[in-house]
Amino acid sequence: MSELQYCVDGELVPASEATVSVTDRGFKYGDAAFETLRSYDGAPFEWDRHYDRLQRTCDLLNFDHGYERGELLDHVRKTLRANGFSEAYIRLTVTRGEHSGKLAPPTDPSPTLVILVSELPRSGVGGSPVWDSPAEVEIVDTVRIPDSAVPAAAKTHNYLNGIMARSESEADETLMLDVDGNLTEGATSNLFFCDDGVLKTPSLDGPVLPGITRDVVLELARERDIAVERDTYRPDDLYRADDAFVTNTTWEVRPVTRVGDRRFDTSELTRTIRDAFDARVESEYDDS
Ligand code: PLP
Repeated sequence: MSELQYCVDGELVPASEATVSVTDRGFKYGDAAFETLRSYDGAPFEWDRHYDRLQRTCDLLNFDHGYERGELLDHVRKTLRANGFSEAYIRLTVTRGEHSGKLAPPTDPSPTLVILVSELPRSGVGGSPVWDSPAEVEIVDTVRIPDSAVPAAAKTHNYLNGIMARSESEADETLMLDVDGNLTEGATSNLFFCDDGVLKTPSLDGPVLPGITRDVVLELARERDIAVERDTYRPDDLYRADDAFVTNTTWEVRPVTRVGDRRFDTSELTRTIRDAFDARVESEYDDS
């Protein structure tokens, strides 16, 4: 098998030669924005939404990554092509760049761009990669960092909050509560639950990353006139629900079969959302 090709600062390099300086602020401080994407049929899924979120993260961190939407897309496509990947996992990072000697961010950042890819075929029932391996979930003690400390809307390299949460449990996903005991999200996913035909998800008013998959699911629900509620919820609301699922770019729509001691059978509503998501992905192939 030939060596993977990554992209560093716009240049393709063999994976074994891809390096970032040890004084890069992304490495030293987690001072970096990133996106995790999937490609279907060689094209990054929901590119505009990912680019917009990257932009928002950089705005919140107060640095300019310096790449136009189309230019960055070209780098992603080029990296996929160099590896011959149609269905891939893509991790795109922009750090603030070299360390200035101070913790305070430099006023003249020189961002470092890194694009990593690996093959990620779609498989399973209806194409969904995880439909056959639903998630068991635990609510853990680690509290989601409040927005007033680090805004959840910024997808930064600082993932210690989720890492601490995951280290508490062997479950497939760990759910965190906010400082007031309300449901927020998983370590790497957004939470949905179905309650008497209503699709519910914690609102972005709390410390919740605006997931791209969450956005797509909400759009699909809207298109199908499914009742949706975004609000503040307690764990009891989830335990009382008909069932639940978690979403992220790699898992897509992943049913939850257990939260703590509460077991769920997958509801008709979750199946409808899963089918709608599959159809949305399939249309990526038809459109090309
Ligand atoms: N919430 C957190 C904390 C995440 O890390 C992620 C993805 O990694 C998500 C939600 C889901 O986001 P997306 O659907 O954009 O992958």
